[in-house]
Amino acid sequence: MLKTYKYRLYPTRKQTKELDWTLETCRILYNSCLVDRNRHYEQTGKGLSRIDQQKLLVRDKKNIEYLTDIHSQVLQDVLFRVEKAYKAFFRRLKDRNGKAGYPRFKNIDRYDSITYTQSGFKIIEPAKLALSKIGCIKLKLHRNINGAVKTCNIKKEADKWYVCFSVEYEPVRKPIPAQQIGIDVGIKSFAVLSNGEEVDNPKYLVKSEEKLIKKQKRLSSKKKGSNNRKKARMLVAKLHKKVSEQRRDFHHKVSRKIVDNHGYIAVEDLQIKNMVKNHNLAKSINDAGWGQFLSFLTYKAEEAGCYVEKVNPRNTSKSCSICGYVYKDMTLSVRNWVCPICNTEHNRDINASINIINKTIGRVPAEFTLGEISSMDMQKHAFCVASSNACALKSILSKNQEACRFIGG
Ligand SMILES: [Zn+2]
Repeated sequence: MLKTYKYRLYPTRKQTKELDWTLETCRILYNSCLVDRNRHYEQTGKGLSRIDQQKLLVRDKKNIEYLTDIHSQVLQDVLFRVEKAYKAFFRRLKDRNGKAGYPRFKNIDRYDSITYTQSGFKIIEPAKLALSKIGCIKLKLHRNINGAVKTCNIKKEADKWYVCFSVEYEPVRKPIPAQQIGIDVGIKSFAVLSNGEEVDNPKYLVKSEEKLIKKQKRLSSKKKGSNNRKKARMLVAKLHKKVSEQRRDFHHKVSRKIVDNHGYIAVEDLQIKNMVKNHNLAKSINDAGWGQFLSFLTYKAEEAGCYVEKVNPRNTSKSCSICGYVYKDMTLSVRNWVCPICNTEHNRDINASINIINKTIGRVPAEFTLGEISSMDMQKHAFCVASSNACALKSILSKNQEACRFIGG
């Protein structure tokens, strides 16, 4: 398995200059590779492959002296990135029936990292990173690396530098918890679990919005190309970085807690890209960052040997989790409702998360059990999921309600 370790770097002024120059040269190489590919296609009707571009790079290195001041793997990695951009482009072409954004030129803000793919770097204990053609940079190793380092990526974020090591390792497996859980992600609460637990939505962007607007205003009032504008742009970038770091940290904590306590996790298979097309919700959805959370949850589960099952989100909010009745006209503002068939009082989100875990019936390995809703939550939501009730209902309703789904203890 691969894992990424990220550490802060403290380059000297001279090394910063060197790093900036390398980044800029790689960016120019990236853009010129795009130009080469386009021109070649226009002239011959054929594409240029990465291997073709590698040959061109060897030729260029003979003519352009300064290219030899960059480690050969770092340059080759640029060609891999170009190849990746083109592969993604062709994939989009296929998926969207011919409509796809062409690989774009990278401007200065968009090209922020270089990669040593196998060699050319070495960690020198206790606190230095030697980079070929750049030098020995001070490094803060705040935690130990377990496993073999495969690649070394140097990244600039706002005005700070980081190194990310991609490390191959064998995960140490703890016993897998026997509990199953369904998770309903949302905006009002960040997540509601089928055991009645709610995770508040911290809304980091909303909290920093006022500051951000002020800083952006200041930025747009500065003269283009001026030093003050540069400074103002940096302040905006720093605030964005802070928000995304807070969110990242939160997603790590929540996903860690869920994976540590549950062996079988059901989530909705959300098409987030389609959901953010709704402009009223886009900002809140992006601020919540469900995509990042679900990817953390998935990789942590995989690491621990737990299951993550994605279920079809259809009607998870609108169906009664006890009898299967579908409340067709339910709007987003309905938070609590009473099922007209079985009289169960529902909290919208808890009911949805129970429906999510119920959708996995038949697929759950036998060793997993469904947790009970705590008595406090039962009182809070007057929620009735006693299995005897459900079974009684099941027999009453089975004639006209096929979708009577319940897993019970
Ligand atoms: Zn019902």
